[in-house]
Amino acid sequence: MSAQLFVVATPIGHLDDMSYRSIDVLKSVSLIAAEDTRTSAQLMKHFNISTPLTACHEHNESNKIDILVQKLLNGEDIALISDAGTPLISDPGFKLVRAAQANGIRVIPVPGACAAIAALSAVGLPSDRFSFQGFLASKQSQRLQQLEKLKDETQTLIFYEAPHRILDSVKDMAAVFGADRPVGFAREITKTFETIKKMTLGELAEFIAADHHQQKGEIVLVVGGASEEKDMEQEKLDQLLQRLLQDLSVKAASQLAADLTGIKKKIAYQRALELSQAAE
Ligand code: SAM
Repeated sequence: MSAQLFVVATPIGHLDDMSYRSIDVLKSVSLIAAEDTRTSAQLMKHFNISTPLTACHEHNESNKIDILVQKLLNGEDIALISDAGTPLISDPGFKLVRAAQANGIRVIPVPGACAAIAALSAVGLPSDRFSFQGFLASKQSQRLQQLEKLKDETQTLIFYEAPHRILDSVKDMAAVFGADRPVGFAREITKTFETIKKMTLGELAEFIAADHHQQKGEIVLVVGGASEEKDMEQEKLDQLLQRLLQDLSVKAASQLAADLTGIKKKIAYQRALELSQAAE
């Protein structure tokens, strides 16, 4: 008799990101457990979904679980949604999913928008291995400790950050990871003022400090792993050498690149040689 618990993703800004399947599921279930029923009521209205809503947020999730699991065991299908994006991803829902699973209830994901994945897909940093870190601590001493533990991590790191803390967090990251570490800044994804940029942590701190608009809205930071600044330096050197090699000999191009960047002449010569041979 037991029913199913659907974990349904909703848009993170642009309402057209709502999937056909998510609308069908939300219309077909008996009850929708929502983080904030007032926020979700607007979404339901937009998509003509009249299924009743019940609140299930971080403060009442533990108490609500028994009631929701009982309803599922009685045969009522339930959908879980959060205010935006994928439930459980820096949002409530984990305890409910775990309890449903423990009671033999089938849990079905209905995938869709997730700010972390959307940011990773567009910032141009390695996406083969990444680690989602959620929100850093709001207290600076704790934040610095958390960053210190991540300093040597070679995977790409994804952080959510509140707008009023973004500048402080980026400055702390630059202090711990180094100002040259590459970072992707993804703000207001899918919304009117969407901003997607890749630069170094030092440059990002300056960019945000100089323009207070960048300290507004919703933000994801994607930080390159510990070896990534070397790759970025290599990428920049290659671009410079490739341009110089269009007009100069290997010797002259490498000499000029060494003068401009401060890298050793021998290294610049070796790389210029490789690039010119590869181009032949
Ligand atoms: N469950 C959501 C998801 O799947 O992405 C995340 C919920 S978490 C409480 C909210 C945080 O996600 C925001 O503070 C921001 O860091 C990030 N976020 C959500 N929507 C975003 C958007 N449109 N653009 C950039 N970041 C966003």
